[in-house]
Amino acid sequence: MEYRFVIFNWKLNPGSSEEADRLMRDTEKAVQGVERATVVACPPFQYLFDFVNRKSKIVHLSLGAQDCFWESGGAHTGEISPVALKQTGISYVIVGHSERALAGETDEMVAKKIVAACEAGLVPVVCVGENAAVHAKGSRAVEKFLAGQLAARLERARAVAHHYKQRMILVYEPIWAISTHSGNVSDAPEDAAAGIAWMKREAQKLLALDVSLPVLYGGSVNGANCEALAARREIDGFLVGHASLNPKEVRTIVAAADQI
Ligand code: PEP
Repeated sequence: MEYRFVIFNWKLNPGSSEEADRLMRDTEKAVQGVERATVVACPPFQYLFDFVNRKSKIVHLSLGAQDCFWESGGAHTGEISPVALKQTGISYVIVGHSERALAGETDEMVAKKIVAACEAGLVPVVCVGENAAVHAKGSRAVEKFLAGQLAARLERARAVAHHYKQRMILVYEPIWAISTHSGNVSDAPEDAAAGIAWMKREAQKLLALDVSLPVLYGGSVNGANCEALAARREIDGFLVGHASLNPKEVRTIVAAADQI
């Protein structure tokens, strides 16, 4: 690992604010003593703003949102602007998660969100990854798909990337490896590392940068596989879904990212 990020995506969990408080307290405890890793928790909005208001009590973690819109005002019922997120004290935002595509998000929308998040001063955590059908066709098909998806999502960011290169994160998150699809089976560490190495080069080229962006791995990262994944220096950290809800797993994952 060159960079060390651990980003916890709680998705639409847990089911009550009492449980959310407990999970945040446990996550905070797990992160105490961390020296190198930057740890970010992304709770659903109904808890996020509560945590932001108590930010002085959350000292070891940064907070992130799970999505944002690209405009800062106007007739956009139900949306939240990156400017508003930044003003409330949030630092990171996940953009382009595959579960947003299920709700109708397109590459063009993701591209606009990336630029809007950067311009608002947020760090976009941009997800990219192939589904099971593409994966089954082999590595050439995967690279072709990912090249197209990266180009479509990063195209608008090209003009501003040199300003924000210290403040953008990519995630290689093969959809088939996400726990809800894979039954909690991750990609093999060497395959995850190879995908990430390729993605770093491709994104650097697309964005015409002189440095490569951090690229994290997401997809069933848990207490059992995190050390082997963290040992691969190409992998700059993790985006974690299901295991975010288990404090014991959280502790193990953060420790693995912090040490190696
Ligand atoms: C995710 O969906 O962002 C994710 C990483 O999920 P999981 O860790 O549960 O596979």
